[in-house]
Amino acid sequence: DDDDDEGEDYLFKIVMIGDSAVGKSNLLSRFARDEFDLNAKATIGVEFQTQALDIDGKEVKAQIWDTAGQERFRAVTSAYYRGAFGALVVYDITRRSTFDSVKRWLDELDTHCDTSVARMLVGNKRDLDNIREVSTEEGRALAESEGLFFMETSALDSTNVQMSFEIVIREIYNNIS
Ligand code: GDP
Ligand code: MG
Repeated sequence: DDDDDEGEDYLFKIVMIGDSAVGKSNLLSRFARDEFDLNAKATIGVEFQTQALDIDGKEVKAQIWDTAGQERFRAVTSAYYRGAFGALVVYDITRRSTFDSVKRWLDELDTHCDTSVARMLVGNKRDLDNIREVSTEEGRALAESEGLFFMETSALDSTNVQMSFEIVIREIYNNIS
């Protein structure tokens, strides 16, 4: 069985989705390069970042896709979703409208991907607790009702960023191994 080969590499595609400016690109740059950018400039160039992880002694590579800003125009194409094994659905805890959009993003994910896709709901910008518009309880309740993992993160101070990606990657690994 090919799956049992020693040194077998795993490569999983994971997509970042959610409204514009919720922090998708910064979550990814924090995870992949430990970098953060305060300037709200549109993502340029890079389609995805690949990050290697050791899980149970196996090298697992996550190929994490970031939008190039097309979500602003609700124009994320099916090519973006194609072949995804996992998704991080991100909202901004300081903007309720981005939380209200989560259902739409989940619908879009269902339209393009298998239901077995590992999904994590991410409430980002947790460092801005003083201007929060969405409570932790609301986030958790939505995640529970939709069957998603849930984390509140801060790409700025790094809280729970590594953990959010790792949970999704581990879940995918567990599903297929
Ligand atoms: P995207 O459009 O979803 O990719 O969002 P970006 O990653 O481009 O971030 C949008 C803006 O929010 C930028 O100005 C970031 O600096 C800022 N930002 C992203 N994550 C955080 C965070 O965790 N905390 C704070 N305070 N700002 C953040
Ligand atoms: Mg972006």
